[in-house]
Amino acid sequence: MDLLELLKNEILDFFSIQGLVDLIRSGDYSSLKTWSGITTALAPLVPLIVVVEMAMALLHQKLHFREYKLTLLIYVFNRIVGRFISLGVVAFCIGIFQPLGVIHIGFTWYWLIYAYLVWEFAHFIYHFLAHKVRLFWCLHSTHHAQESMNIAVTYNHFILEAPYADFIRTSICIVLGVDPAMLFMIMFIDGTWGGFIHVGENFMKDARFGFLQHLILTPSHHRVHHARNPLYMDTNFCNLLNVWDRVFRTYQPEDRQLPIEYGITRQINPGNFVDVYFGEIYYLIKDVVAAPGLKNKLLYVLMPPDDLLKIG
Ligand SMILES: [Zn+2]
Ligand SMILES: [Zn+2]
Repeated sequence: MDLLELLKNEILDFFSIQGLVDLIRSGDYSSLKTWSGITTALAPLVPLIVVVEMAMALLHQKLHFREYKLTLLIYVFNRIVGRFISLGVVAFCIGIFQPLGVIHIGFTWYWLIYAYLVWEFAHFIYHFLAHKVRLFWCLHSTHHAQESMNIAVTYNHFILEAPYADFIRTSICIVLGVDPAMLFMIMFIDGTWGGFIHVGENFMKDARFGFLQHLILTPSHHRVHHARNPLYMDTNFCNLLNVWDRVFRTYQPEDRQLPIEYGITRQINPGNFVDVYFGEIYYLIKDVVAAPGLKNKLLYVLMPPDDLLKIG
């Protein structure tokens, strides 16, 4: 395959547009009544907003290449390495945990509400631990490194974060009886919304969504989550419904008097791929090597990143 062909395929893959093109070409839209037809049609939504958001930033003369440079590097790196690491974590967890399921639920609307609440709970657990256990923070910090917000941030992830997240989320859902087919449906809704909540101020200045903010997790809530202001840090861990943040008291609405400062607390070069991608791992290894005794070494791996100074 020559380079141009490869580039063309990569662009088509990024926009997830091939399925939609085939659908339009065939002229047969009956598949839109099926779940796979809907997912095919909606798959290009987030990539499309990336382009629209960039165009709007350009129009307002606020398009800074440095804000997108890192996302591009991370995307390319994950694509290349991803070809070699293919972890079927979801399938693995379903196989292991399905026989241990405490209940088995049906495929009805009320069980869908139950399943979504369970999924959101599992997402809360994965995301909370990603902030509170330093080893997992090493996998998650890449997502928080950028010091501005735009929807392309949704692609900023360390490559092992997805297997870690999928392991926790799938295991909890399957043990609590969620049907695998329903789980895949929820994963699609969650993934699409999880991408959308990264829209930046160039696309949508006020993203609080009126009364809906009391029920769902809005882009405004997620902007707060990406902030390093002490009031905002480690809040709003949910994805679509903010119910578990309210239950566990980590809910924090945006305060108009307190402008959001994006990024992480460590001094970081947000334009440097190695620092953004491997920086936290480097500092963890450094601390573990320097710590006296096995107990202290383990504490560095398992304690919250912000409690490290207290370990001594
Ligand atoms: Zn986070
Ligand atoms: Zn995010």
